[in-house]
Amino acid sequence: MVRYVYDFTEGGRDMAGLLGGKGANLAEMTRLGLPVPPGFVVSTEACRAFLTGGAEPEGMSREIARHLTALEDGAGRLLGQPDDPLLLSVRSGARFSMPGMMETVLDIGLSDASVLGLAKVSGSERFAWDSYRRLVQMFGSTVMGVDGTLFENAMARLKELRGVRDDLHLDAGDLAELVETYKDIILDVTGAHFPQSPTEQLRRAVLAVFRSWNGERARLYRRREHIPDDLGTAVTVQRMVFGNLGPDSGSGVAFTRDPATGRPGLYGDYLSNAQGEDVVAGIRNTVPLTDLERLDPVSYRQLLAHMRILENHYRDLCDIEFTIERGRLWMLQTRVGKRTAEAAFTIAAQLTDEGLITPDESLARLSGDGLARLMFPRFDTSATGRALAHGLPASPGAAVGAAVFDSAEAVRRAEAGEQVVLVRQETTPDDLPGMVAAQAVLTSRGGKTSHAAVVARGMGKVCVCGAEELTVDPVARRFTTRDGTVVEEGIVISVDGSAGAVYPGAAPLVDSAVMRHLETGEQGEDAPGVVDAVARALRHADGVRRLQVRANADTPEDAARARRFGAQGIGLCRTEHMFLGERRKLVEQMILAHDETARAQALDALLPLQREDFAGILAAMDGLPVTIRLLDPPLHEFLPDRTGLAVRIATAEARGERPDPHDTELLDAVGRMHEENPMLGLRGVRLGLVVPGLVAMQVRAIAEAVVQRIRAGGSPKAEIMVPLVGAVEELRIEREEVERVLAEVSEETGVAVSCPVGTMIELPRAALTAGKIAEQAEFFSFGTNDLTQTTWGFSRDDVEAAFFSAYLDKGIFATSPFETLDRDGVGRLVRIAVDEGRAARPGLKIGVCGEHGGDPDSVHFFHTAGLDYVSCSPFRIPVARLEAGRAAL
Ligand code: ADP
Ligand code: MG
Ligand code: MG
Repeated sequence: MVRYVYDFTEGGRDMAGLLGGKGANLAEMTRLGLPVPPGFVVSTEACRAFLTGGAEPEGMSREIARHLTALEDGAGRLLGQPDDPLLLSVRSGARFSMPGMMETVLDIGLSDASVLGLAKVSGSERFAWDSYRRLVQMFGSTVMGVDGTLFENAMARLKELRGVRDDLHLDAGDLAELVETYKDIILDVTGAHFPQSPTEQLRRAVLAVFRSWNGERARLYRRREHIPDDLGTAVTVQRMVFGNLGPDSGSGVAFTRDPATGRPGLYGDYLSNAQGEDVVAGIRNTVPLTDLERLDPVSYRQLLAHMRILENHYRDLCDIEFTIERGRLWMLQTRVGKRTAEAAFTIAAQLTDEGLITPDESLARLSGDGLARLMFPRFDTSATGRALAHGLPASPGAAVGAAVFDSAEAVRRAEAGEQVVLVRQETTPDDLPGMVAAQAVLTSRGGKTSHAAVVARGMGKVCVCGAEELTVDPVARRFTTRDGTVVEEGIVISVDGSAGAVYPGAAPLVDSAVMRHLETGEQGEDAPGVVDAVARALRHADGVRRLQVRANADTPEDAARARRFGAQGIGLCRTEHMFLGERRKLVEQMILAHDETARAQALDALLPLQREDFAGILAAMDGLPVTIRLLDPPLHEFLPDRTGLAVRIATAEARGERPDPHDTELLDAVGRMHEENPMLGLRGVRLGLVVPGLVAMQVRAIAEAVVQRIRAGGSPKAEIMVPLVGAVEELRIEREEVERVLAEVSEETGVAVSCPVGTMIELPRAALTAGKIAEQAEFFSFGTNDLTQTTWGFSRDDVEAAFFSAYLDKGIFATSPFETLDRDGVGRLVRIAVDEGRAARPGLKIGVCGEHGGDPDSVHFFHTAGLDYVSCSPFRIPVARLEAGRAAL
């Protein structure tokens, strides 16, 4: 026999799946002996049955009736009893908290008859009519679907008529009049009367809460928070207690510690003579909770005691909703409270010190995302003022600059030394120069994987996207906010990419003490609590993690920084930037060379430059492994742009001049080397196999740098990595060349140089033939960016802006597979390659060097897949250390 309804005394906190978080925690508080108004919970199972079957599940109403009778017996009066009505609240509550997303109806049981009884027994006509007016309003909008603003407007009109500003100044007569107006509105809009039968009210309110699970607001919220759509909500039915019975009554919310900073103490707001929803609605000014000590010392002390019980019991920060009815305290809700990243770290450390949790539990409660947030400078939110608009927090950090409305203007002003914020409806690749020049990017359209968001994150640039409250007018060069504020080009604004907010003017910035500490080891003075808490969490994570953490770094500066952040080596040193700038000329010469001698000359000129690059990095990472990847991108990326060249030549010809012969030659080469799909073209190991002398030059530079370091007394540990291998034969041939050059340099210098040679696994074929490839590879490193592209068959540069937001909306992705590793597809290839690689070569060292190496969820996957290390950009290293520790718990 299925069962749908549970009394508070039958449930507990571990039943959140069935009773919803709210119901389960009310049951838990009841069991702890705290004063909770009695009640029962209709389970999420009933909700699921109702939503899928389209009708009340068999037996549910009978169970509700039985529990109602028990409540009535306990109270000694009936629901809606005319001379002394029992009143109920009907509250929503899902497994995961969805604040304000679903419905709650209070004061069920009031009617034209029972409102008079309530007035009499309570001794307050005003209270009775105020409660009735609340019921008609909530029932009308929530259950009967009337637009809530109609009620609000009616109330506002009446207040104007009476010349009062505060609800409290409407008297019983006014409120009775309002009830009539509300009932007329309902009849007008729906053609039906507000129901006078208390049991009909109850039944319909329960079903309305069920339906609110599929309300638009709730669905959107779930998609954003990745909460499954099929959980359903529970419904809590509870005896009403009244905070609006006079000055000795009231409602409040409280936190057992400060949810912003984590500092211990009592935090919250209190509103006397009010029901709970008035506290959050902000219609009247609340007082700080500490004022309650003066207003009602007995309740205040009780509240403190209850909060201590809850914190010790939940062993975490709790938040609480409570109501005082004529001097008697009632607990209406509790849960483990949401908190800022700073509070999360601080509280975890405090609770460990207090002996409430173990260091492992403490670490489990933290997150890499939270740590990343603490590493950015942020606005001093006590001084920002009201936000101009809100959007999606697409790329974290805080930035200030003058609003500009196109890329060219951004570049022009930035070159003149001005800080700018690029504001667009949405960005395209044409906006790239402007994005580079700007401090931050703000768009009115697009989601978290829109072009603006993806590119900004890649550049570590602050971005708020999809700020739909803004109307951006690029022609008039201004944007307008919802309340009509106009911001013209050149006006300074502040963009908070962590919170997704835009503020007027230059909001004051505070540096991140956590970042300073991680980079320099300095103890911050302004936030010693959180700095110390972060340091402790990382120490513990380092102690328990199995995964090593390396850095993606291409310069000695990056390598040194990575080391300060705790990197245990370099997992990916790209060599392509070493072919740019001044050296482009030499690369051109190498590409254009007509004969061996010319090519050798160019390569010879590049050699000492490369050697110095490697020597610098090996010095910065002395004693730790440095994985150097041989050149990967297609060579034409180093040549000038085709159109630019063609234009230059055509202009010269139009002027009747002879075009620069070098230009003609270059254009020729560019034409010859043009590829439709460079990502799938002549790159990676393919380059090494067909461009004579390239690999030899790079390997020689590495080997000579190693010798130089050894002679200087250092301990270099270079590893050579071959990119984009798909077949073991490719690696075998290239490796022979590598070994040949290493032997040559050893011979010439008399210093034995041995570097492990390994490969990237970034093509499905490589993963699927990993057993064979392992015979030639001394290590594997998963290039998960390319592996994601080639597994899905889409090029990252082309698809993210084009259709990722549509895919996210349709639920095809929960997150972009470039952000979080696609476990089912790409992850499966990773597992195959790990298993077959290690089967062929036991103890094969395996790491990952794509963006995913610094992504929390992906780090957990790499841990379970048995990798040896992850490698990520220097700033992500603390995040990866923390998550690698959490993965090992
Ligand atoms: P939400 O999930 O949106 O916070 P709640 O179910 O907590 O919705 O209800 C909102 C408010 O209604 C609560 O904060 C509380 O003040 C009030 N409320 C709910 N149940 C009762 C009750 N039994 N007695 C008095 N007030 C209640
Ligand atoms: Mg609540
Ligand atoms: Mg790659």
